[in-house]
Parts: sequence; structure tokens; C-alpha cells
Amino acid sequence: MKFGGTSVGNAERIERVARLVADCSREADLVVVVSALGGVTELLLRAATAASHRDVETWKKVGRELDEAHREVATRLLSENEKAVLLPWLALQLKTFEDLCSGFSLVREVTPRSMDSLSSLGEALSATLMAAVLRSRGIQSQAADGAEIIVTDDRFGNASPLFEETDARTRARLLPQIEAAGIPVVTGFRGATRAGICTTLGRGASDYTATILGAALDAGEVWIWTDVDGVMTADPRLVAGAHVIPEISYREIIELSFFGARVLHAKAIRPAMKKNIPVLIRNTFRLECPGTRIGPSASGRPTGRSRHHLCFECRPDQRQRE
Ligand code: ASP
Ligand code: MG
Repeated sequence: MKFGGTSVGNAERIERVARLVADCSREADLVVVVSALGGVTELLLRAATAASHRDVETWKKVGRELDEAHREVATRLLSENEKAVLLPWLALQLKTFEDLCSGFSLVREVTPRSMDSLSSLGEALSATLMAAVLRSRGIQSQAADGAEIIVTDDRFGNASPLFEETDARTRARLLPQIEAAGIPVVTGFRGATRAGICTTLGRGASDYTATILGAALDAGEVWIWTDVDGVMTADPRLVAGAHVIPEISYREIIELSFFGARVLHAKAIRPAMKKNIPVLIRNTFRLECPGTRIGPSASGRPTGRSRHHLCFECRPDQRQRE
């Protein structure tokens, strides 16, 4: 299960996700993938640019905002024991943030390689925080760094996984934890080269992390938890009658993303498709919505619109009336 930035945007939302994970973990073995807290990646990118222009004020301000946002979650949701470990760790991460920004200021430059270490810091924070929140609720959980699992090439900023090595590492790293009934919480977005240099898989690529891991583990399903009801027939902000599509094939979703649908990262479908693993798009904030199931067009039904029955509960026009 992957949770996007909005789903883990603040303490209240993280608590909701923790509850959801706890409920679902009673029915299946889970691996959780998280994005950075909403807006954090943008903040990090802004800090990097500011630092390279020697705009110390801006990056220091970002540092304070990062500290506040994560500290607030920790203070509200963690047990005393967890807090005692997490808060000093958070301070260390912020020190890394400052060291990187000071470095960028000094050389007046950010290279794609050093940018990846900074831009993926948000996921390191959110994953560690989420695992600690789960433990505070009595659920066995451990954060795992995507940089130690997803082996990539060295196209910094838009790296591609080396699947054979990634699959082997995923299984070696995550299976023992799953078998011991723990829930790994993996940083989305992040990988590392064979030499261990941090890379990122591209903006919005935590979805990709989820399907890469799902495929490596032969997961039954990959669930992408987001802030929309599913894949829709059109952008509901532009088209009044837009509705959720309950089921769609891999091929159709690839076509839709080619034409600009953004509900799933463009590359994310491939690992799932290769292993015929269904991908479900679900709304974290509207659990009553069944969402969209993306799979092989196994049902053999025609692909025209007529096959889609409307999901009335999920129609945006109805939502406004609620
Ligand atoms: N946090 C990263 C981004 O904003 C990755 C993700 O959200 O999927 O691009
Ligand atoms: Mg994000």
C-alpha cells in the first residue's frame, strides 16, 4: 500500500493512515510505501535552489518549516519512548539538510546527484515517522530506506531500477520482516546506485516504488491510496459528468496517462503488468468508495464506455451535495 503526500499531510491524516494500515493488516501481509509529507518535496527543491543562490534566509526558513511539520506529528502521535528516539534523529536529519544546503551555497551549484540526496530527505522523514506512529499504536513496524533496496542506474533525478538486483534485495530485506509479522514502511521515490549513491526515480515516483516492490514480492495486489476517488472518465474540475471507472485494463491506463491522466505515475504500471498484479486506486479520505481496479483485461469485456457502470457514490456532483 502506497500513501501519497496528501494522505500523510499532517498529524490527523497520518493517524487516519495508521488506523487504516492497522485494519488492513488483520487481513493481509502488508508493505507500506510513503511519499514525503504533502508539499515537503517542493520545499526541499526550493531550498536547494535558494542555497545555490546563497539565499541563506530562504533555506534556513525551509529548515524551520520541515522541523515544525515533522515535530508536530511526532509530538501528537508518538508514545514517549518513540518520541525520545525520533526527536534526536529528526535533529540529525535537519543537520544533514543544513550541511547539504551550506555545501550548495559554498559552491553556488546543485548537481542532479546532490539534489537527489536532498530532495528525497522528505521520504526518509515520513517513513521513519510512520513506522514510529505504527509502533506507538502497538503495531510491529520498521522503516526501510529505498536507497538500500532499489538499485538503480546513475541517471540522477530520473533513475531507472536495475530489476534483477532490486528484486533480490527487496526479497532479502523485506521478506524476513513480513514473515515476522512486521510491517515494513519503505521510503518512496528513493533508490541508490550500485555504489550506494542516492538517486530518485522521478517526481511522483513513489507509485513506481510501490509497484516495483509489489512485483518483487509477488504481491497479491498493489493499492495506491490517494486523494481522488479513482481513475475518472475526465478531469472532474473540467467536466461535470466525469465519473470513476471501476475497472480498467493496464493498456487503457497506459493510454490514458499518455493523454495526460495523472492519477498514477506513468512508469508505475509496468512492473505490475509484467506480473499481472492488479493495482487499486483508492481514496484515503473516502473509504466508502471502491476506487478503480487496474488489471489485465481478463474479463474479456469490450473496452468501450458502455461497459463501465457509473459509481454513483463517487460522482463529484453528488459529493458537493454531501
Ligand atoms: N515526494 C516525491 C514527489 O513529490 C515523490 C512522490 O510524491 O511520489 O515527487
Ligand atoms: Mg509528493
